[in-house]
Amino acid sequence: MARPPSVDQLARSLADSGLPHPLRVEVARQAIADGEVERAGELARERARRLLVPVINATGVLLHTNLGRASIAHHQDASFLNLELDLSTGKRGSRQAAVGELAATAVGAEAAIVVNNCAGAVLLALAALPGDRAVAVSRGELVEIGGGFRVPDVMAQSGARLVEVGTTNRTRLADFQRAIDTQGVGLALHVHQSNYRIVGFTEAVSIRELATLDVPVLADIGSGLLDAACPWLEGPPPSWLAGEPAAKQSLVDGADLIMFSGDKLMGGPQCGILAGSRALIDACASHPLARALRPGGLVLAALQNTLGHYLRREGSEIPFWRQATETTDSLRQRAERVADAVGDRTQVIETKSVPGGGTLPGVEIPSVGISVMGDLSDELRALDRPIIARLDQARTILDLRTVDPADDDLLVTGLAST
Ligand SMILES: *Cc1c(COP(=O)(O)O)cnc(C)c1O
Repeated sequence: MARPPSVDQLARSLADSGLPHPLRVEVARQAIADGEVERAGELARERARRLLVPVINATGVLLHTNLGRASIAHHQDASFLNLELDLSTGKRGSRQAAVGELAATAVGAEAAIVVNNCAGAVLLALAALPGDRAVAVSRGELVEIGGGFRVPDVMAQSGARLVEVGTTNRTRLADFQRAIDTQGVGLALHVHQSNYRIVGFTEAVSIRELATLDVPVLADIGSGLLDAACPWLEGPPPSWLAGEPAAKQSLVDGADLIMFSGDKLMGGPQCGILAGSRALIDACASHPLARALRPGGLVLAALQNTLGHYLRREGSEIPFWRQATETTDSLRQRAERVADAVGDRTQVIETKSVPGGGTLPGVEIPSVGISVMGDLSDELRALDRPIIARLDQARTILDLRTVDPADDDLLVTGLAST
């Protein structure tokens, strides 16, 4: 029997995998220990597939949590940035200033700051604002968003004292008033029911009503629709957005501070934005947690890019909006081209896309896709540029709405290879 190769020899032979040498050494050592030397190449390829790679989202879920929510366009050459330098004075500046001003302008707020995500924004606001006073929240809004974000838990971590008001299905303004009068409540928090709805015998208190109270109103609007009028789109707002709370309108309705995600309906990088009155934003910005939650220059530059498109009304430059509003005619043409190129096995079908990302539950957006008999999902995922498809009974469905048209040819070669 031949002697097994040395770890070093085997690791060197795995150079094709593209893995850095220390990882090839780990794979080689494991393969030798398991007596699977002949499978070392395959193991190295598997290991390489755990690294981040661009994938084609053919699921029809516009904000797919497993695929990084919003698809964002951002390229940056290696370079220093004036991240904390004021170029006009030469003095130290704030990393928040420029992008914060863009965000504030986009939603009509006095001021804004950016943190790592909306969960962080809520944590910071609750830590920075209540002092020793309690925060009132409707029992119908003590929500859990995906990934373990539970409003009561975040409040507990922030040190704020939670006062639950109303009932699960019905809360009235008088419930908040009573909590202010009798339980030391100094702040009202409104939380958007992002991923669920309560229907039937219900009553909820709007931001506008909360604003008539004598305490500041915070609103966690979650999904980050900047303006219900969608002035960045050429046409009117899509009908499926109806009823979704928007940042600008929440402030007009009287919220003193709003919090939202950057990578849901805003279609930007992962971040959380706080916007509202300058006094409240300053209180958040000067809290020690703001330092722990601050985003890096890459995220701020990508966000600046996205906000720039909003302010220039270039919705078609924002992948989320471009994909969400592409017409079914255009999708059908693309699907027919792909199906023709692949051949008889494929069929063009009507599908339903969804916004995803824990937003707009129940909303479906008509779409067009390609259907192929059989379950091809493993094979498509194994491609160099993995294609993530949807399964419907015994068929594999590729929804064109979430696929960049520039990737249509990759769908053709990908499907043809299966
Ligand atoms: C999604 C969501 C969050 C969490 O946002 P992340 O940016 O994922 O941290 C918080 N609150 C509401 C209402 C949400 O919809």
